[in-house]
Amino acid sequence: MFRRILIANRGEIAVRVTQTLQQMGITAVSIYARPDRHAKHVRMADEGYAMEGESAADTYLRGDKIIDIAKAHHIDAIHPGYGFLSENATFAKWCQDNDITFIGPSATVIANMGDKLIAKKIMAEAGIPVVPGLTISAGDEASIRREAIKIGYPVLVKAAAGGGGKGMRLVTEEKRLADALAAAQREAKSAFGDDRVFIEKYIEKPRHVEIQIFGDTHGQAVHLFERECSIQRRHQKIVEESPSPALSPTLRQHMGEAAVQAAKAIGYTNAGTVEFILDQEGHYYFLEVNTRLQVEHPVTELITHQNLVEAQILVAAGQPLPFTQDSLRQTGHAIEVRIYAEDPERNFLPSTGKIVHYVPPAAPYVRVDSGVTAGSLVTVHYDPMLAKLIVWGTTRAASLQRMRWALSRFVIMGVTTNIEFLRRVIEHPAFQQGDLHTHFLEEHEEVYAPSDDDIPDAVWIAAAFSSKPSSHHASDASYQSDSPNVESNSPWSVGESWRAF
Ligand code: ADP
Repeated sequence: MFRRILIANRGEIAVRVTQTLQQMGITAVSIYARPDRHAKHVRMADEGYAMEGESAADTYLRGDKIIDIAKAHHIDAIHPGYGFLSENATFAKWCQDNDITFIGPSATVIANMGDKLIAKKIMAEAGIPVVPGLTISAGDEASIRREAIKIGYPVLVKAAAGGGGKGMRLVTEEKRLADALAAAQREAKSAFGDDRVFIEKYIEKPRHVEIQIFGDTHGQAVHLFERECSIQRRHQKIVEESPSPALSPTLRQHMGEAAVQAAKAIGYTNAGTVEFILDQEGHYYFLEVNTRLQVEHPVTELITHQNLVEAQILVAAGQPLPFTQDSLRQTGHAIEVRIYAEDPERNFLPSTGKIVHYVPPAAPYVRVDSGVTAGSLVTVHYDPMLAKLIVWGTTRAASLQRMRWALSRFVIMGVTTNIEFLRRVIEHPAFQQGDLHTHFLEEHEEVYAPSDDDIPDAVWIAAAFSSKPSSHHASDASYQSDSPNVESNSPWSVGESWRAF
């Protein structure tokens, strides 16, 4: 077993991995960029090593420097978390070349799955349904045109090296195809240094349903059921749940088996996710494999009672999977929301500053994975996700009820957050009914606007924590919100007032 593991990440995931390592008796070693020198992940780790620089590009993305730190401090293995270097095949290979275990799948699997075209080809050959489409060899526009007509408009142009929704273009009619291809190629070239694009049938109002997979080095592969992640903004997930309200036991079994088949087809080891889109008729299509631990993994942990990070460490150390397919059960319902420092009323503009109050909800079946505390600085340098709130209930209704409560008790002051926006999403009748699809937010745009009776309890709770009589400052110009939708005497402006500190 490993003795010393370096976590090549920051924020909540670095904290989450650190806790499990310490529970396993493994020394957790952190790295940090200058703005993070007082961050929670650094304070919690057993050891921490500074990296020169502030930007992610100069620090958490510098695989070469991270390997140097690992070698200098006798590190046995590196946990990459998600984002940063977690799906970087070159970094995984460097680890291997330096006798450091990369906690994740092999460099080859990462490289193959990072290429959407190779991934689709492998999956199609393994008999897994893929979205109908065509690979584009540069300049061959006539064949693209023919294929687009064959599969039928609308079509989606995607980048082979894509990620995070970049390089994607929806094309509704033939006359827009050429422009969309050129634009997607340009965007893909600048974002990934690879301008290969392809077209795919655009599935109308699909659900995003993904299956958690896990493989070991002894040839075993299992799935840990699904997560529905249909609530997305700009192709980024913000709410995830399991079970999916859309899956019958039979469909769940079929999709689970398809995901395990996918894992076996590529010799998958460690934790991964097979993403599918599910159309309105219940047909599912392979989208991609994410070769890392996902942001939303706690949903799976709560319904299966497994610790996925612990399983990652065991498997990376060469041990067999700590569970079998038959031993895994999906119990109750779990839901996660991502809490961001951003302002939904100003087009989700990131909000920076110092967190002056931070009081997460604490109750049975309520889990908060967070990278911040009171006093933490939220800077422009990194992703503005502050915390993940995950709750469990015996049924979906019970879990949504608990989530509503937990959101109303989550106090974060000093930066603007999306908490009230999330509460409106969870409370929306269509969400409550499980009537989800990836365009949910566009279709129900009322969730963007706070209503008058939508007074956030957290504001009042925060006011109680405050030593300043915040609501009495409503007439003070320096405390007024500059948002046109916000009345100066409304509780919404209280949140703004904290930004004056
Ligand atoms: P990325 O790797 O950039 O995140 P994905 O292929 O995972 O790209 O797709 C991201 C999101 O885009 C999906 O969750 C889904 O909402 C939407 N999407 C992708 N492919 C299609 C498709 N063929 N039809 C409709 N929506 C799609």
